[in-house]
Amino acid sequence: MIIAIDGPAASGKGTLGKRLAAHYGLRHLDTGLIYRAVAKALVDAGCSLHDRDRAAAAAADLDPEKFDEKALKSHEIGEAASIVSAIPEVRQALLAFQRGFAAAPPGAVLDGRDIGTVIAPDADVKIFVTAAPEERARRRAAEIGTPEAPADEAAILADILRRDARDQARPVAPLKPAPDAHLLDTTHLSIDAAVRAAVDIVEAVRAGRGRG
Ligand code: C5P
Repeated sequence: MIIAIDGPAASGKGTLGKRLAAHYGLRHLDTGLIYRAVAKALVDAGCSLHDRDRAAAAAADLDPEKFDEKALKSHEIGEAASIVSAIPEVRQALLAFQRGFAAAPPGAVLDGRDIGTVIAPDADVKIFVTAAPEERARRRAAEIGTPEAPADEAAILADILRRDARDQARPVAPLKPAPDAHLLDTTHLSIDAAVRAAVDIVEAVRAGRGRG
C-alpha cells in the first residue's frame, strides 16, 4: 500500500506520516528533508540558491542515509528549501529516488507537496492535510520555543504564509490537492485525533476497494 500525504508548511504531515506508517507497518519518507538537504548543501558550499546547475548536482549527489534531520529541520533551511525546490532540474533529479522508495515492498507513506499529484499519482490513498495558518504557526512556535527563549509566533506565521505562497505559485509540481485526495483539516484536532481521522480515511478507501 502507498499512502500519499501532502499539505502546506507545518501542517503536521510529518507526524501524521510517521504515525500512519507505524500503524500499517509501512516505511516512511519525509520528502521535505530531501529538498532541505539540497538547500543545505548549497548553503554550506556558499552557493546561490538560484544556481540551477549546482542545485541539480547537489540533488543528484544526495545520500538520504546520511541526513542529519536536526540540522535540516531549521527554519532557515526550510525557507531555502522552498527556493531550490522550484528548480525543475532539482525536482527531476529527485524523482526516481522517491518513486523507488514508494514502490519497494511492503509499501510506504510519503509526505510532501506533490506526492499525490506527481510522485505517486496511483497511490492507494491520498490525504491532503490542512490547518489554519495561525494554528500552524502556534504549533511550530510551541515546538521550537522554550520558556527562556519563546519563539516569535508572528514571524513564524509570516514565514509560513510566504513559503505556502511560493510553493503554490511555482509552475512545476505546485502545492495543491490531487483531485482524488481526501481533505483532512486538523485545525481543531489533537495529534491523536488527526491520526484517528487519517486511519478512518485509509480504512474507508480500503473498504471501498475490497481492502486491496
Ligand atoms: O515539508 P517541509 O517544510 O520540510 O518542506 C520544505 C520545503 O521543501 C517546502 O516548503 C517545499 O518548498 C519543498 N518541498 C517540495 N516538495 C515536496 C516536499 C517539500 O517542494 N514533496
